[in-house]
Amino acid sequence: MTELAQRLAEVDARIAAAARSAGRDPAELTRIVVTKFHPVALVRELHGLGVKDVGENRQQELTAKRDEAAGLAGLVWHFVGQAQTNKARAIRRAADVVHSVDRARLVDALESAAEPDDGTLDVLVQINLTDDPGRGGVQPSELEPLAERVVSAATLRLRGVMAVAPLDEPPAAAFERLAGYAAQVRRIAPDAAWISAGMTADFAEAIACGATHLRIGTAITGPRDSRA
Ligand SMILES: *Cc1c(COP(=O)(O)O)cnc(C)c1O
Repeated sequence: MTELAQRLAEVDARIAAAARSAGRDPAELTRIVVTKFHPVALVRELHGLGVKDVGENRQQELTAKRDEAAGLAGLVWHFVGQAQTNKARAIRRAADVVHSVDRARLVDALESAAEPDDGTLDVLVQINLTDDPGRGGVQPSELEPLAERVVSAATLRLRGVMAVAPLDEPPAAAFERLAGYAAQVRRIAPDAAWISAGMTADFAEAIACGATHLRIGTAITGPRDSRA
């Protein structure tokens, strides 16, 4: 077994254990492997191990890797990074799911970037769980109008919410608030049931608070280089 295979198996075992101790079925969780800063060779290796969901946080890297990995069947590409509106067309072309929709202008840019033969793009609204506007995500007070704007965009499908835990607060407390915001969004879009939360340091807490999509990097891939 390679080290990568071993780390993947270990993380999956920890995910399953966290799900069971929260009274949840591990099968209802999607584990996304965040491959940012790693070469496409890693994506190939992961695919060989049965990984289907991969995540990137920069549009250029996403676009390049998706092209290079075009021969790999069944991969689902998740864009989890800050999105610039002038990259909306490129993001639409390369991503199957965009986790980081955090402002009306981005909704409009993604919507108007659709081309006639594009399918519907799955999106999540990213929520800022801190008071620092510099961190990504919409402030909770702006959540409902943003979710409504996504719902009214014909080429976007609202799937749920996404967040990153704050640095200065226990993750469980923040993820409990996120569960409340997710319920708020489901009142607007009843089938928008995804909660994208949980990274290497906090996925067990996220699972306990109802996360459905985990974004896990280093615990599976090993350390990224210093740019990360
Ligand atoms: C890098 C990244 C992750 C994965 O982080 P790890 O701590 O390496 O698991 C998850 N979500 C987002 C938005 C990221 O940028």
